[in-house]
Amino acid sequence: MSTALPKKPLHIAMAASEAVPYAKTGGLADVVGVLPQELIRLGHEVTLVLPGYRSVLESLPSRETKIRFTTPVGSVSIEGMVEEVCVPIGGGSCPLKILVVRCDPYFDRPGLYQDQHGDYQDNLERFSLFSQAVLRGIGYLHERDGWPVDVLHLHDWQTALCSVYLRAGVRGLAIPSVKTLLTLHNVGYQGLFPGERFPVTGLPDALFSPHALEFYGLVNCLKGGIIFSDAVSTVSQTYAKEILTKEFGYGLEGVLADRREGIHGIVNGIDVNVWNPETDRFTPASYNVSDLSGKEVCKRLLQRELGLPVRSVPLLAAIGRLTHQKGFDLLLEALPELVLLDIQLVLLGTGDRDLEERWMEAKSAHPDCVAVHIGFDEGLAHRIQAGADMLVMPSRYEPCGLTQLQSLRYGTVPIVRCTGGLADTVVPFKPSTVRANLATGFHFDNPTSDAMLSAILLAVSVYREREMWHSLMKAGMKVDVSWTRSAERYEQLYRTVLSSSQ
Ligand code: ADP
Repeated sequence: MSTALPKKPLHIAMAASEAVPYAKTGGLADVVGVLPQELIRLGHEVTLVLPGYRSVLESLPSRETKIRFTTPVGSVSIEGMVEEVCVPIGGGSCPLKILVVRCDPYFDRPGLYQDQHGDYQDNLERFSLFSQAVLRGIGYLHERDGWPVDVLHLHDWQTALCSVYLRAGVRGLAIPSVKTLLTLHNVGYQGLFPGERFPVTGLPDALFSPHALEFYGLVNCLKGGIIFSDAVSTVSQTYAKEILTKEFGYGLEGVLADRREGIHGIVNGIDVNVWNPETDRFTPASYNVSDLSGKEVCKRLLQRELGLPVRSVPLLAAIGRLTHQKGFDLLLEALPELVLLDIQLVLLGTGDRDLEERWMEAKSAHPDCVAVHIGFDEGLAHRIQAGADMLVMPSRYEPCGLTQLQSLRYGTVPIVRCTGGLADTVVPFKPSTVRANLATGFHFDNPTSDAMLSAILLAVSVYREREMWHSLMKAGMKVDVSWTRSAERYEQLYRTVLSSSQ
């Protein structure tokens, strides 16, 4: 009988522009906050590299300086430091190592990417410098540890340039043994800058060409990462196919289709310790799949908190960034019909000024059935997930989506546009899935208010069939939305990258 040899643990470096609990503007931070912990639990060593934003410096005060560096950014030389801190995770003995890239003029600011006037004008400088510092940090680990980094896992345009610097032969930045994986969390955000700004990257001029970083006269950081990384993945299998089309590829569909080995799709999970209706520190009552009574308490108290009448009517929630992508304008369009149904609607979000104003107007026009909270409020997001009956996600596209995973876990039935990760994680209500007790929510195909309204109408009618509704809620609560399986899939992918490109 042969026994399989245990696989060698890997050393993964993960570079990202945000990570919970240090800096967050969206789902990327949730992913980068949890995935390293899961990989450590699987026995791997993980080093996370983050920019030294003000929030990072404040939440990780006891850092040790490891290296100082000087990098040319355009015609000036910028000085910075890579600092290190070890953070204990989940009671385990193996801590998470975090490298913090210090360059205070660029990162010690109130916002991550923008202020009240819009995007910072020097974002290309900021993330070119960050990407170079990531490689210097890894170079340092190579020299110090007997266990160099095997795979550098990059996330989105802000770190995509790491792969370009690694392969472009820029002095001091080439580490031949490191393989790279770039994960695309949203192809709609590519890091586009005017072509004349290219020199601030310090990359050879030859790379400003259509075969590398040039994109219709602009610098496109994500494109560079897609071309130069050893492997590319995205956050659901459906989105991995969608981005090869004109509708979803935002001009990069051809570049993506050119990757011979394809785009890997690995769906995100959520932190099931943070998102747990039994132990949630933000909610007024706890519940679980075998006793849902606490959810009713959460609903009553949520209605009170939102200033809505305390009534047992369906409470429909929407949570997310107020951008065209998320499609919450379709809800506004459907409002005249929605208010005729005996339901309540709560929106929590922040984003486009115009959408924020339109939602505030909707609230003033229908105070008895529409509640709106403009802003980013973690506690309220938890209380809404616990207290609402349904969550609607009318996204025009959705690479993965985390809010529907959170709502499944909280027995809040998702109503989703059938796209990207929404299609992959919500099983639609139809006779065959209901018979098999597999249905967990409702789908609609087209990004129109009509299609969305039909799905909401169906959900509201099923809501009135209490037994059927409870089985929908419970089926959702039983779905495994944790990171366990996805972290294993990333591990497999790292090993594939290592073996295929050696
Ligand atoms: P995206 O990354 O496109 O913004 P995701 O669904 O992947 O969308 O992740 C969004 C994350 O941010 C979820 O954890 C969600 O609960 C949270 N979130 C979004 N908007 C808000 C808000 N206004 N207040 C609190 N949490 C929010």
